[in-house]
Amino acid sequence: MNTFSVAEFRRQFPILQKLNKDSGLIYFDNAATTQKYKAVIKTSQNFYQESNANVHRGSHFLSAKATKSFEIVRLQVQTLINASSEKEIIWTKGTTESINLVAQCYGLSNLKSGDEIVLSQAEHHANIVPWQNLASQTGAVIKVIPLDKCGRIDLVQAEQVITSKCKVLAVNHISNVIGKLNPIKELIALAKNVGAKTLIDGAQSIAHSSIDVKALDCDFYVFSAHKMYGPTGVGVLYGKEQLLEQMPPYQFGGEMIKKVSFTGTTYNSLPHKFEAGTPNIVGVVGLGACLELFSKSLLSDLQAYELSLCEYTYLALSKVLGLKFLVDQQPDIPLFSFTIENVHHHDVATFLDSKGIAVRSGHHCAMPLMELFDLDGSVRVSLAPYNTFAEVDELIKQLQQFSLGENTEKLPVSTQPSADNLTTINQDEILNLFSNAKSWDLKHRQIMLLAKELPRIDKQLRSDNDLVNGCESSAWLKVSINETSHQLSFVADSDAKVIRGLMVIILSVYQHKTAEQIIAFDINAYFSQLGLMQHLSPSRGNGIKAIVERIEQLAATHL
Ligand code: PMP
Repeated sequence: MNTFSVAEFRRQFPILQKLNKDSGLIYFDNAATTQKYKAVIKTSQNFYQESNANVHRGSHFLSAKATKSFEIVRLQVQTLINASSEKEIIWTKGTTESINLVAQCYGLSNLKSGDEIVLSQAEHHANIVPWQNLASQTGAVIKVIPLDKCGRIDLVQAEQVITSKCKVLAVNHISNVIGKLNPIKELIALAKNVGAKTLIDGAQSIAHSSIDVKALDCDFYVFSAHKMYGPTGVGVLYGKEQLLEQMPPYQFGGEMIKKVSFTGTTYNSLPHKFEAGTPNIVGVVGLGACLELFSKSLLSDLQAYELSLCEYTYLALSKVLGLKFLVDQQPDIPLFSFTIENVHHHDVATFLDSKGIAVRSGHHCAMPLMELFDLDGSVRVSLAPYNTFAEVDELIKQLQQFSLGENTEKLPVSTQPSADNLTTINQDEILNLFSNAKSWDLKHRQIMLLAKELPRIDKQLRSDNDLVNGCESSAWLKVSINETSHQLSFVADSDAKVIRGLMVIILSVYQHKTAEQIIAFDINAYFSQLGLMQHLSPSRGNGIKAIVERIEQLAATHL
């Protein structure tokens, strides 16, 4: 019988109590990082207060205590994934570093020109770029396995791609965009048949399934602690002992040596050979504290709850007007990627943020996958077992209202290449609007209303030369000058409504000004008066900066 209580589980995550009380925040960005388990926070604090010393080398009591707390976690992780020996558990700073380590230490000494590295279409950049780098170092070639209709790695096609030229197969267990378990046991068997080594990116699977590396028979399995309720800055590389033995060290320095002299150095034995320098001691100790969540019985309770949450959310999302999932069928974990018809994904995410719901939008570090879907991004909602059905209901309610509003509203499209496409709205009016909008919800609403002041430019009139670099959603900016008044006129557009609104705010101070006035204007002071920047995500903040920089560059050409 499932005795799992979400209320009880939620209480184990202090940030949820606080955010819920202060701002009613609903956190649906768990695939990016999970919230931290109370015991992780407490153990980390206790370690600094009671056990802090460097590990391995100290000849005193405190160092022995710290080393014991640190090394015991290696044994726990060994048990968690059923590795044969603790020598097979290497601490890294995360999945990304684990993959880089394998690409460099295994790949560089074992791959040669013409060898093939096989990936899938749905890899995270962390499982693409290190291999591309290896390919450029060795002359090896990257091959890609396509996906089936449901977004899983296609086994039939995999058989064609994994040939005797394949030396490494590196694929995800669960994609961070698709949320479906891949048939990795079968894929590993295909790779073994041709003598290739296998690396499984378990970043998204570790928190949702029990992993048995012996049963899988993979050569490497990698994951990050921060996606399993543990600390950031700690990751695991599991590797078969015999392979790790053969591989050269990754980085060089203290800890990874046995003996150093100026005539030469001998390296330490496993696992320390791969752990140069002082490790993230408190991170590892903190990871140890979250492992109690992965006991067989609790994990199966969590999985059962997640599954019901997954079914419920999938059905509810399916009913939202204009919502389209990226792939067919319900995901295996509660991770949903979708678009909403006629709306930019950033606009969906920014709207939800203004309602206190944190989701992710963008390419999710999986640009080749987005290319396949012919999208520049999507919305991703990813849940954890501390999320509730009531939170899902709130998400659906907000999405329904938003989609209904957006899909009934028609924006004017300007087909004339006029001097500018902006109804004049000046700085004072903007300041007035924002001084009356105190909360982010109200400010967001103002930005979206202002977006209506910027009629869309016909697609044919948007030239690639006018694209603003550094803005995550496409934004176009064109300038012309009045030869008599020397005033500059801007034509602006963006796919994202939130960016169009922000463009109106920016242009309210730059439109019809001379180049000298534009360069002299203190835009940062204006933004702080509006109280906007703190609400914008770093990527959107950078996008705004990129637009301002482009305006200043364009103005500089007319000085
Ligand atoms: N692979 C996948 C599938 C991921 O989801 C992530 C994190 N989003 C990574 C790799 C990279 O993990 P990290 O940033 O912890 O190194």
